[in-house]
Amino acid sequence: MPCPSVDVSMNDSNPTTPHAIDALGRNLRDLRISVTDRCNFRCPYCMPEEIYGESYRFLPKPQLLTFEEIHRLARLFVESGVEKIRITGGEPLLRHGLPSLIAQIATLQGVRDIALTTNGVLLARQAAELADAGLQRVTVSLDSHEPDVFQKMSGRSFAPDAVFEGIDAAEAAGLGPIKINCVVQRGVNDHQVVDLAEVFKGTGRILRFIEYMDVGTLNQWDLGDVVPAEDIRKRIHARFPLEEVPPSYSGEVATRFRYRDGSGEVGIISSVTKPFCGACTRARLTTEGRLVTCLFASGGEDLRTPLREGASDAELLARIAGTWSRRTDRYSEERSHQSDTATDGRPLQKIEMYEIGG
Ligand code: SAM
Ligand code: SF4
Ligand code: SF4
Repeated sequence: MPCPSVDVSMNDSNPTTPHAIDALGRNLRDLRISVTDRCNFRCPYCMPEEIYGESYRFLPKPQLLTFEEIHRLARLFVESGVEKIRITGGEPLLRHGLPSLIAQIATLQGVRDIALTTNGVLLARQAAELADAGLQRVTVSLDSHEPDVFQKMSGRSFAPDAVFEGIDAAEAAGLGPIKINCVVQRGVNDHQVVDLAEVFKGTGRILRFIEYMDVGTLNQWDLGDVVPAEDIRKRIHARFPLEEVPPSYSGEVATRFRYRDGSGEVGIISSVTKPFCGACTRARLTTEGRLVTCLFASGGEDLRTPLREGASDAELLARIAGTWSRRTDRYSEERSHQSDTATDGRPLQKIEMYEIGG
């Protein structure tokens, strides 16, 4: 396995800064920025209501990175090789003034893609403004089109229609092709996989089924709750014949399938049964400014403290490159060898999904 710390190729956006490359030879290419730890859903697999109830204290505002701080860090990540930026959360549309952050990020030279992941209920009223600010694409999470299953999986009483209205508005605003993410949990929503595929078949919207993952420590994940990607494919294929198509870009996480009747495509993300750590070029910036190098990490590098103590761009760039160069994460590939407990017998610490945004 190669172990370079700096790629010999230079960064197009800043010819003086080398691309960051990790200890397993993976470039830093994508950045997910979490803009809030709050959410208007309580999906039991992410923010269970029992823990995130009325009395839960979310981060106070001074602890959140400001838009100016996010913009500065995003610029430095771009100088380190990042080409794609995704805004996430919590629920990112709860962050006040989000279009102005998008507009700032859109000015960065070298960013070829600015996307957003949302649960969609606030999208209808914000889509046009976000698109005007420079947002290019949205991914909307939708675990079911059936009201009772949707409510069970979102932990709230919204109707799925609110999400469909958001999807329509996003499409009308030019934020397509829209991707729809559906986490599949055995015994909860797996009975409607084929029906959901039918809802989106022929619409130009790309539905992607995601294997339920053991992210965080709160969802009491069990391997038995995971419906393997191959099962999902077979179920859809039995009703709507499919054929695999090549990835649209290197490192694409979803395996793509085309409907043989020409009515579009569907994706399946096999994070558990067929991990793709070897191609993982993704960094995450938490709401309070930690750089996290894996979805299953136990912590991250604090960038907010040096930022607020007046660190220069060169110092911050060195922290980003240093953290990335030490990266050896490949949790999903090692999952079967992992223990749920640390060496001292305490449960393994893992960052929660709503802190890093998927
Ligand atoms: N609130 C936004 C949303 O739901 O789209 C953005 C943040 S959410 C953490 C990002 C994505 O992570 C969602 O598509 C959600 O379904 C997915 N997710 C959360 N917990 C998950 C888990 N345990 N396994 C698989 N996907 C998960
Ligand atoms: Fe909120 Fe998204 Fe987590 Fe659901 S998955 S609780 S919508 S952050
Ligand atoms: Fe990337 Fe970590 Fe997921 Fe592997 S387990 S694909 S390294 S985020």
